[in-house]
Amino acid sequence: MTDVLQIDDEKRVLKQYYGGVQMDSPNGGFLMVLGIRPGEGGTAVCLLECSVSSLRYRIVIPKATKTERRKVKDVLDAGDDPDCPRHGPGTRLVRAGKNFVCNSCGVAYARA
Ligand SMILES: [Zn+2]
Repeated sequence: MTDVLQIDDEKRVLKQYYGGVQMDSPNGGFLMVLGIRPGEGGTAVCLLECSVSSLRYRIVIPKATKTERRKVKDVLDAGDDPDCPRHGPGTRLVRAGKNFVCNSCGVAYARA
């Protein structure tokens, strides 16, 4: 029951996740976000539950790329509030300790 499964087409789910649209579950129905926790080496792990089967899945949200970091740093250097490079405009990065983090990705994109 508490088994957490890996999703085969993580890329598709991630794309839907970043796009803020409903994530299709491999079992039919859709995937609901249960929570996000920090993963290893700057990644984050998103826990999902299928609305139909109640099976649980996890996807790994990749760490920030160099390009993403640079983009966010440029915005910070300009004195503006950066948005999440993946979630796009409207999803502000928040300061968490020494980092600027997207609450939806769980990923740190810059150092404060
Ligand atoms: Zn994000």
